[in-house]
Amino acid sequence: MRETVTYPALEIDRKKLADNAKVVTDICSVAGINVAGVVKVVSGDPVCARIMHENGCEWIASSRLAQLERLCREHPDIPLLLLRVPMVSEADRLVRVASMSLNSDIDVLRAIDVAAGKAGVIHEVILMIELGDLREGIWMAEEYIAVASEVEDGLKNLHLAGTGTNLGCYGSILPTKEKMEQLVVATERIESSIGRRLDIVSGGGSTSLPLVVRGEMPPRVNHLRIGEGIVVCKDNEDLYGISIDGTHRDVLTLKAEVIETRVKPSHPIGEIAYDAFRGRPSYVDRGERKRALLGVGKLDYCRLDWIVPEMPGIEILGASSDHTILDIENADSDIRVGDLLTFDVLYSAVAFLSISSDVVKRYI
Ligand SMILES: *Cc1c(COP(=O)(O)O)cnc(C)c1O
Repeated sequence: MRETVTYPALEIDRKKLADNAKVVTDICSVAGINVAGVVKVVSGDPVCARIMHENGCEWIASSRLAQLERLCREHPDIPLLLLRVPMVSEADRLVRVASMSLNSDIDVLRAIDVAAGKAGVIHEVILMIELGDLREGIWMAEEYIAVASEVEDGLKNLHLAGTGTNLGCYGSILPTKEKMEQLVVATERIESSIGRRLDIVSGGGSTSLPLVVRGEMPPRVNHLRIGEGIVVCKDNEDLYGISIDGTHRDVLTLKAEVIETRVKPSHPIGEIAYDAFRGRPSYVDRGERKRALLGVGKLDYCRLDWIVPEMPGIEILGASSDHTILDIENADSDIRVGDLLTFDVLYSAVAFLSISSDVVKRYI
């Protein structure tokens, strides 16, 4: 008898996640780099956070404060880092759950200082430097020096822990040795202005890992915030040809259930207008073909090209919000209603799947 679990399911292989965390943090550790394990892609999943922490991620980080609040309740022993620069309206909640945050605005920092004072805590601050990706970060040297000096001397409930940067998000900018050297220069300017050495220089996320692997990371960069490179572990290999021995690409898989199989024409019949998303796709007439429908759709994983069928011969034809349509004419094995099909998932699909209330997370 089939176990009574519901589908679709996002399956999480705990052993493989542990291996990835261990291998990546070991490589970083040899280069003198501490890792914050980023769990936003699995919507702050506490099981994943615990595994990553136990396997070398000193900090656990997310961009969403609500995820950190849940982690703080479940794992009060794990140090938490907020990645998205806090909102002024979040200051009171922030200082209660996260001991450190990335920051780029003096008004926000003043609000966090007041909140930390009220809560009786010292909050650690990483000042974000803009290096060209054009998301968060201070661009002009005079400004980051002024902000750092005010945090250092004027905001008594904050501790300036260090500097950081973010690349490869909005502006698609590659983290290079030169960019990392610019971060070190900015750090040293701040240090000479405040008269002490900073503890942390945070050189980005998973896209900075190739610099570590190639031995090109400047020695002063001693911190990275890694999610994709541990939890999903595909982008550096697929996009830059950098794979890390001992890591797994299949920590996470999507399992979805077949709800109809039938031979049908491959070209829609009637007057072609719009699909469910106001799109006007084109359809190739390949005659009658065997098709299957799955009980999972774009509301769960967002985009077709973010999921890849594991079974050879299966082709994804399209999807609406709640259905995925497959061509199974050449599938390797017979597919029937009730069968489960497995899909490889890209980072962005995981991010959507893990927030869909209809997708269960299952640990194996
Ligand atoms: C999401 C995020 C990261 C981690 O990115 P990955 O590509 O998953 O490693 C690091 N820093 C910031 C500021 C982020 O928002």
